Formats: sequence, C-alpha cells, structure tokens
Amino acid sequence: MPVPLLDLNIQNLALESELKAAFERVLRSGQFILGPEVEALEGALATMLGVRHSIGVSSGTDAILLALMALDIGAGDEVICPTFTFFATAGCVSRVGATPIFVDSCPSCFNVQAAGIARKLSPRTKAIMPVHLFGQAAEMDEILELARPRGIPVIEDAAQSLGAEYKGKPVGGLGTFGTFSFFPSKNLSGFGDGGLVVTNDDALAAKARSLRAHGAKPKYYHKYVGGNFRIDPLFAALLAVKLPHYQTYTQKRRDNAAYYTAALANLPGVVLTPGAGKPCGDGSLPVEVAPGSRLVLPGPHQDVTHIWNQYTLRVPGQGRRDALKETLKAKKVGTEVYYPVPMHQQECFAGLPSAHETLPVAQRLATESLSIPIYPELTRTQQDEVIAAIAAFVSAG
Ligand SMILES: *Cc1c(COP(=O)(O)O)cnc(C)c1O
Repeated sequence: MPVPLLDLNIQNLALESELKAAFERVLRSGQFILGPEVEALEGALATMLGVRHSIGVSSGTDAILLALMALDIGAGDEVICPTFTFFATAGCVSRVGATPIFVDSCPSCFNVQAAGIARKLSPRTKAIMPVHLFGQAAEMDEILELARPRGIPVIEDAAQSLGAEYKGKPVGGLGTFGTFSFFPSKNLSGFGDGGLVVTNDDALAAKARSLRAHGAKPKYYHKYVGGNFRIDPLFAALLAVKLPHYQTYTQKRRDNAAYYTAALANLPGVVLTPGAGKPCGDGSLPVEVAPGSRLVLPGPHQDVTHIWNQYTLRVPGQGRRDALKETLKAKKVGTEVYYPVPMHQQECFAGLPSAHETLPVAQRLATESLSIPIYPELTRTQQDEVIAAIAAFVSAG
C-alpha cells in the first residue's frame, strides 16, 4: 500500500456535510470580506491560544509581514532569525527592507538558541524571530531574557506549531507577536492559503488590524501604508469546521510519533537524539553523532509539548539521506527534505553579510534531514510499512 507524505482527503471528506453547510451559509450570507465568520474563527483561536488579540490574515507569510510592518521594521534594521527554516521567515524581513541576520540551530530540536542569537545582537537589531520548527517550541525563556531588557520585540514564527506548548503555555502568545499558517501541510490545514497574527498588546493589535486593510481608518483615510492581508470568510467558515477536531488530530500525530520511535529505536545503529528530554542547553550539543549511528530519531526536549508537524530523522553519512529517500520512494513511501538549503546559502541572499558564514549545524541538517509521513490518519499498517522499509535500509548498513 502506498504511504503518502500527507493525505488531506481522509480528514476533509470525513467532514464533507459540515463543510458543505458552511459553504452554503457563506454563499447565502452575501458577505465575502471579513464579518462574523472571520470574527468567530478569530475568537475561537484566541481562546485556544490564550491571547488577547487574534487577527486572521491571507497566509502565514503575510502574518510575518504584517507583524514586521506593525513594528515599523524597515531599511537599516536587522532581524535575527534562523537559517534553518522555511523561506518566508527570512523573505519577509527582506521584503520590508530590513536585513535578516542568520543564526545556527540546535542539532537536537533544530531551533535557534539564545546563545547563538546573543552573538548576533547589534545596535541595529530591531526584532528577534525564532521559529518553532516541525511542531516544537524554541527555548523561549532564554530568548525572552535576552530580548526584554534590551526592548527588542520577539516575533514567534509558529507556522508549524499551532497549539504546541512551552512550559505549559501555547506558543505564539509568549513574544510580542506570534504568527501561524493554515497552509494545507500545516497541522490545522486549510482550504487554500490563510494565516493568523496574535498578540497581547492592544496598540500593536489595532495597528496590525489596520495594516491588514490598507492602514485605513475610517475607510479611505489612510494613517499607514498597509496592504490587503485579509483572510476570506469562506476560508474562515471552512476552517472553523475543523477546529473542534484539532486536539484529536494532534493526539493522533503524537501517537504516531510514539509508535515510530518505539519501533525504530530498537534497530541496529538507530539512536534517539541526544537532547531528548533535556533542555535545549547552552549551544554545546555536538552536531556530530555517536560513531556507528545510522539514524537519529527526533525526541522532544524538556518543557515542550511537540505537535509533530513533521517527524524528522537525521541520516548521517555522505549520501545516506538521499539513499534512504530513494529506498522509501521505491517502496511508495512519501518523504520530504525540510530543508535542503539553509537561508544564508540561498542565491537571493548572496549579498547579505551572512552569505559567507559557515553555520555548521544548519549546513549539516540540510544534508541529513528527512521527514517521513506522520499525518493523523496514517494507519498502523502504513506505519509498519515505513518502519520495515527503514529497517531494511539500516540493517543493510
Ligand atoms: C509554512 C510556513 C510559513 C508560511 O506560511 P504560508 O501560509 O505558506 O505563507 C512561514 N514560516 C514557516 C516556518 C512555515 O513553515
């Protein structure tokens, strides 16, 4: 049986009649810009995330852009962010005219750490943007301890981590702004593009809301140069159908992750990541794996609840990651490399100060990381197929 990396139809079609009813409700409402459907979704997400303000936007990318714009970040400013992330994190910094300053990652949780950020602070640092990658929170206390005394805002790029917790609190509301995505590959997968900006700051929320619709208040009187970053009522109504099931989806991802880890950990040469169950640490975790390790399994750090947007393996050894990808492909198991090129090595950023740096962890992860299917509706039979294919690969040496 083929095992796709992601299968949206099982989840969506189970809700078909409710989704059709939501569509008809919006159709008959005649309201296609903002309004009650958007407000209902925003309210439900604010409650879930424990934040004062939640603003529905057109994508996770636009959520980041809006947060940067609301903070007046632009030319001459620096924003510290990971190099090992999806492009949007850094791309938005460039789009507002600021300079992304790239930081290396923890080899165990793949997130930026305060120690690495501290080394890149400058008088021009206008924001720090950690990304909670693959569904696991970055070490927010340490990052906020660095940022707060200096008055530097923190934007949490939580696109992959809706509902993930750090020390018992949902991410997104810990910093100045939190941004989320409902792109179909994210845990709360939408029907097209959509995103969310959250904050506990009343003034910044008002400004972000205004910037979402051309910075006008009242209509046609423009206080700021904003844009059109609105979420659609139809999108909001459809997504709201899925929201009550979100905890179940997350629990299934957790169960799937635990099942993989239990089965794979017993194979020869397979080790659990050395940071599992520990705090992120001071940046001294080695990127080198123990000799003889053929596969490193992900394991949540201390103080976090992982929501498993991805279950990401490290496959050490020259060419081994690509070999495993090919082996799995031959057995019809879908995988993806998140991410093959760190941001500081992207062609579009060749002119940046970070372009000539060596950021060893990110560069290594780019050659070793491989994400395997983890979506909620994956069956045990499908997981057993993935496990068998990986077992054959590691025992072949
Ligand atoms: C998906 C993603 C984004 C962008 O979200 P879109 O909704 O696709 O625009 C931003 N940052 C990270 C880390 C992401 O994974």
